[in-house]
Amino acid sequence: MFPRITQYAHQLLQSRIKVGDWVIDATMGNGHDTLFLAQLVGEVGKVYAFDIQTQALHNTNELLETYNLRHRVELFQQSHDRLHFPLSSIAAVVFNLGYLPGSDKTIATMPETTLKAIENSLELLKVGGLVVLTIYWGHEQGQLEKEAVEKYVEGLSYPEYMVLRYQYVNPKNNPPFILAIERRK
Ligand code: SAM
Repeated sequence: MFPRITQYAHQLLQSRIKVGDWVIDATMGNGHDTLFLAQLVGEVGKVYAFDIQTQALHNTNELLETYNLRHRVELFQQSHDRLHFPLSSIAAVVFNLGYLPGSDKTIATMPETTLKAIENSLELLKVGGLVVLTIYWGHEQGQLEKEAVEKYVEGLSYPEYMVLRYQYVNPKNNPPFILAIERRK
């Protein structure tokens, strides 16, 4: 069987992130990706995780505490389009677009802020670094966001950036998919 979407995103990240790297989770949610990143960067690396919801920070904090990895992560209750801190040489940035599972579906990522956040992420990325976006577009504003992100990544200059798409094409109800951007130069 082909890897599931979440598995494939993790495979891409695992193949690229090394112990000691700095990485960003742009949509921490319940913290599953934040935890995965914290496991990859080791004791000397760092994860910077963003979300606008208090609930997301609470859930992520609890999850990291359970695994004794809280010290590897900095949590920010801040929109990811304000990703302007004095960091560069980031190895990977992860986005899971959409809403927090089990929470208010109206608090979802939005096209304008998502595009700004991707743009900022590319500026922070080191050569060989990845931005991995998982796009859930079954909800109301998801379709618009999907189209905006597709248009943006298709316009990135080649071969400075290489963009990969991973998607099951025959399910009927807007299956999620991955867009992964690699900075080559
Ligand atoms: N990766 C998460 C996990 O492992 O549980 C799931 C992320 S969930 C699909 C999307 C998250 O993006 C929600 O928690 C939502 O609050 C957050 N979000 C929405 N707009 C945001 C923004 N402008 N900046 C940062 N996070 C945002």
